Amino acid sequence: MFAKACSHTDHPDGLLKQIKICNSMYYMQFPLKRDDGSIEVIQAWRAEHSHHKHPVKGGIRYAENVNEDEVAALASLMTYKCAIVNVPFGGGKGGIKINRNNYSDSELERITRRYTYELLKKNFIGPGVDVPAPDYGTSSREMAWILDTYNSMTDDILSSEACVTGKPVRQGGVRGRNEATGRGVAYGIVEACCSAEDMKKLGLERGVDGKRVVVQGLGNVGYHAALYLAEEGATLTGIAEYEGAIYSEKGLDLQAVVDHRRNTGSILGFPGATDIPRSSDALLLECDILIPAALEGQITRDNAPHIKAKIIGEAANGPVTADADAILLEMGVMIIPDVYLNAGGVTVSYFEWLKNLSHVRFGRMSKRFEQSSNERIIKAIVDATGITLPPEQISMLSRGADELDLVNSGLEETMITAYKEIREVAKEHNTDLRTAAFINAIDKVAVYYNDMGIFP
Ligand code: NAD
Repeated sequence: MFAKACSHTDHPDGLLKQIKICNSMYYMQFPLKRDDGSIEVIQAWRAEHSHHKHPVKGGIRYAENVNEDEVAALASLMTYKCAIVNVPFGGGKGGIKINRNNYSDSELERITRRYTYELLKKNFIGPGVDVPAPDYGTSSREMAWILDTYNSMTDDILSSEACVTGKPVRQGGVRGRNEATGRGVAYGIVEACCSAEDMKKLGLERGVDGKRVVVQGLGNVGYHAALYLAEEGATLTGIAEYEGAIYSEKGLDLQAVVDHRRNTGSILGFPGATDIPRSSDALLLECDILIPAALEGQITRDNAPHIKAKIIGEAANGPVTADADAILLEMGVMIIPDVYLNAGGVTVSYFEWLKNLSHVRFGRMSKRFEQSSNERIIKAIVDATGITLPPEQISMLSRGADELDLVNSGLEETMITAYKEIREVAKEHNTDLRTAAFINAIDKVAVYYNDMGIFP
């Protein structure tokens, strides 16, 4: 993708090489004393792909198959992702080579704390240096351990809370972070459907209202994307999980499906829906928007020719292989690329970092003021017109924005602005949205070097 995008730019080869390479990689091995007293050597990495902006930012994954190449590649994707959504960070990624299910909670805590210590010792963590976040196999709990370890080892008291994001809200996290990626997916798709010109090319009406949506993966991202798209008027016609899929032309009630799965252990057998025993068949369902939100490599050159969706919203990382991408573009399918569409998480992580550095909850300084202003405006209208409004309507209309409102609004603004930029680049270069997203990212990183006159 990088090479394809480069061919649309006129940056010197040396500059493109500098943008592509991983700036720093820290490989560490340290001992873990297991609960049974045995010693095990743990392997771990932290990659800082691009120092064109500080800090660098990216998750830490705990996975058995993690390796140096993967961490470096994922760190580079973070650089491009941040650039695309105008988050002023370079890209980073960390990995610890373990299967978290094979370790007790106290072993996981010892691994996490030792990893943080190693990062700190080599200056690979800090609010202005490198800020990790959750990724595969990690959660807000691991982020709280990282913060506590960092706190106990530095005298950076004023800004230490910003050394990691994705923390629990009571430990300096921000409201709305958990659902941010799925919400961002929905905002991105809504914006893509806003262009009557683009929708006409696909044979669709403008807007998401009434569009049939199929979602693969009812996890964090898939669930929230489906939830917010349904709120915007889309009809959820298909859901796929690993045990199978369900379909209903009339639409599925998302919460009822979640409840049904909790009660029965499966989405199959949902009242009023048709069961599809082979989960992957759901990708081939007749629909307007297909949202793969489970795993990478789901749409390949084998099933791509049979896809009937007009729009694919890549909520998961890498759900469409390169072969399939070419086939789908040839078929006229609009692919909204992962590198843009699932950037909601890092966007809200940026808001968390800002909150930590400012030491003020979003909305604290303005909520009450806004409410009083709105009440005064409503009173003036009521006095001038003589209309009466019920008290609950007055309180709804006058409410000042709280942290969640502001985070969601900032996320929506970010996703809309970034989409408009990518669409412009796609038109200018007569290319697809994915290539356009990479061109846009490369150009933004190149500005840093060009402005210094390094590559005149
Ligand atoms: P998750 O584990 O919460 O959800 C994944 C869901 O997919 C699970 O419910 C799982 O049962 C289901 N699934 C697994 N295999 C399946 C299959 N073959 N068919 C259908 N469903 C299947 O994970 P998540 O956090 O929602 O992440 C989903 C994807 O989004 C991943 O690719 C992840 O890398 C990407 N992503 C997540 C975030 C985030 O903030 N969580 C951010 C960016 C990208």
